[in-house]
Amino acid sequence: MTNEELWKAVLGEMELSLTRANFTTWFKNTSVLSKDKNAVIVSVPNGFIKEWLENKFNKKILESIRNQSPEIREIRYTIGRPKIELAKHDFSNVILERELESRSNIEVDKDVDKATNLNKKYTFESFIVGSNNELAHAACLAVTKSLGKLYNPLFLYGGVGLGKTHLLQAMGNKLLIEGNPKSILYISAERFTASILEALVHRTIEDLKSKYSQLDLLMIDDIQFIAGKEKTQDIIFSTFNELYGRNKQIVLSSDRPPQAIPALEERLRSRFEGGMIADIGIPDFETRLAILKQKSNEKNYDFDEETLTYIATHIQNNVRELEGALNRVGAFSQIYNRIPDIKEVKNILNTYLSSPYRKTSPQSILKAVADFYSISGSDLIKRSRKKEVVKPRQIAMFLLREETKLSFPEIGQKLGGRDHSTVIHACEKIKSELSVDEPLKQELVLIRERVYNSFEK
Ligand code: ADP
Ligand code: MG
Repeated sequence: MTNEELWKAVLGEMELSLTRANFTTWFKNTSVLSKDKNAVIVSVPNGFIKEWLENKFNKKILESIRNQSPEIREIRYTIGRPKIELAKHDFSNVILERELESRSNIEVDKDVDKATNLNKKYTFESFIVGSNNELAHAACLAVTKSLGKLYNPLFLYGGVGLGKTHLLQAMGNKLLIEGNPKSILYISAERFTASILEALVHRTIEDLKSKYSQLDLLMIDDIQFIAGKEKTQDIIFSTFNELYGRNKQIVLSSDRPPQAIPALEERLRSRFEGGMIADIGIPDFETRLAILKQKSNEKNYDFDEETLTYIATHIQNNVRELEGALNRVGAFSQIYNRIPDIKEVKNILNTYLSSPYRKTSPQSILKAVADFYSISGSDLIKRSRKKEVVKPRQIAMFLLREETKLSFPEIGQKLGGRDHSTVIHACEKIKSELSVDEPLKQELVLIRERVYNSFEK
């Protein structure tokens, strides 16, 4: 048996016992350099991987090697150049994820208009109407034709990933495309709140208020985030009155109806309920299929009916996930330069549907961070500003944001009732450090590893 064959057999075994992401992280670019009577020398790409294989996988790897060559007693790891690549058929999450990431980064930057926060890709034309969103769609369209006069405010609500942002953006884009000399602003409630806080600090709140009150159309997305934010609610209320009084249009979206938003001032609630409320529900199969076809067209994908039907059948509750699945199949065909057959589609979807982000919980993230830095869970939550806890705390915030669907305010809540602006700051700080700080990057790999740990410690 050649060294190459030996290592392939080992990789084959390791692959079976690990998740795809794990396997790729630790075994990519490894090989057997040489073998003598009782030792094998394994080449690894860097010191970080070396340490990890020595400490965590050595026993398993040795077992596996001894299945092939029982005389081997020892493995030595050395940092060197790779001999063999992973098998070509590998479509691990990690690779697809990279491909997808590199695309979404490009999209985010170039397409969003700085003045209005509108992204041209969201239009009424690209929005598929089904019985689940018919009312919301009609209301949005009607409002663009009669700004400020028909329903004011227009309040859209529905679950995550069902098209609220798309509809809001489509309204703004339609007005822009038609060359309306209108002053339009789309803003998420999170950013709205952040801008108010900033203006309060810099004593420019009056400027900000007057800026908002000069708009013809103000759209605030995910308004549920202002729950409990008194100052924000105050300013929304006065802005609202200004705009309303001058027949200017306000559109709001939320993941729930106004009466279900906790800690919402009564006066605001009744304002929100004073216009038109339209909900968006879960799309039926036909609508899901039509959405997939629309997105395929947009992206020039050329998948057959069977593939699209398979996706539409298996992903039911969330259009964003529907699109995510389609993009994964798209990334596959980009990477391998061919259209996957239905078996491969099933594979891709299986990995997607069981991908780790769906399985983690805020608790396991907090625990993993605390364990990793040898501090207690309560240290993360306490008020202390000691260096040993400040950084872990920021990392915890960053990971909660990346790995769960929690909003900034919810993350602040989880970490001892901190303000969401603190959370935003922490996330941005870690993100920017990650691009220059290699050790930090590796720490995060290790912490994520603990979060999604699939092997014994
Ligand atoms: P929400 O704001 O409700 O969480 P989004 O508007 O961000 O959801 O929608 C998530 C994704 O799904 C977006 O890419 C959007 O274009 C797409 N989407 C949702 N509903 C539809 C639809 N009816 N037709 C086409 N695309 C849709
Ligand atoms: Mg949204």
